[in-house]
Amino acid sequence: MNRRQMIKDAASWSKLAITLSVALLICGGLRAQDKDFSKVEIKVTKVSGNIYMLEGEGGNIAASVGEDGIVIVDDQFAPLAEKIQAALKNLKITDKPVRFVINTHYHGDHTGGNEPFTNTRSTVIAQDNVRKRLETGGTGGNGSSMKFDYKAAPKGALPVITFDHDVTVHLNGEDIRALHFPAGHTDGDAVIFFPKNNVVHMGDDFVRYGFPFIDVSSGGSVQGMIAAMEKVSAQLPPDVKVIPGHGAISNLDDVRTFVKMLKETSAVVQKAIDEHKTVEQMKQEKILAPWAKWSADFLDADKFIETLYNSLPGSKGEFMKHN
Ligand SMILES: [Zn+2]
Repeated sequence: MNRRQMIKDAASWSKLAITLSVALLICGGLRAQDKDFSKVEIKVTKVSGNIYMLEGEGGNIAASVGEDGIVIVDDQFAPLAEKIQAALKNLKITDKPVRFVINTHYHGDHTGGNEPFTNTRSTVIAQDNVRKRLETGGTGGNGSSMKFDYKAAPKGALPVITFDHDVTVHLNGEDIRALHFPAGHTDGDAVIFFPKNNVVHMGDDFVRYGFPFIDVSSGGSVQGMIAAMEKVSAQLPPDVKVIPGHGAISNLDDVRTFVKMLKETSAVVQKAIDEHKTVEQMKQEKILAPWAKWSADFLDADKFIETLYNSLPGSKGEFMKHN
């Protein structure tokens, strides 16, 4: 191997390492022990009224902090639980603990802290399918080149209260409502509403890192993601503050731009499926080139073609079953 090749290889390895760590950040598919969380700092941002957003590593956390105690939405990774608790205490609003944790879906970067929070007497709430998938573990992914192994969670990490359609937590003068939307990012997604404070946490049905990861292998679909985000954005006040699963605080225009991209790219891939094109042909023809700005290392246009192909009807060699 010549020197030039070595440098090239080293560069591509470091690129791979970055891609892997982003994948951990977004999917929580690798074991939390494999990463050093000691340097992660928890950044707290006031969103509105008594609702805060916490960022560290993994999915965004929403927190309702008030006289009745604390409710958080998602809990990142287990090694960060103490730092999250300290950051909430540092607000000096209440000495009361985190009474409830609501999970938006089962991925490890949103539920990894469930066990330590349960051990410190929080009650974890989630949609039925979140508990089922945490209990068994399994393989998530886009049905093609993206695969993430999710280990079965220990008993202490399982949600103690589960719901099918919706649940409301009445705390801090607010009716905090978790509403299930089927088959979007996964089959267990919940969007969490804070109506008094005019804030919503979308879970990973809305993210800001580019083309979204849709866990087709865990019952997700682009159609469900579009349906959920269209329904939510049609019903919320125009000035609602939107906490995405990953990325900066957003508004409904950002959600609409995201949905528009999902619909346009789905239509392009659907047309190619209807024309009996293979995934390889779609990649070669770069059919998602007009949406290149959504492409990122973790999830580039080729991986998103796979995702849409595996999500949309008529793929996988199925020929007309109905007319
Ligand atoms: Zn996720």
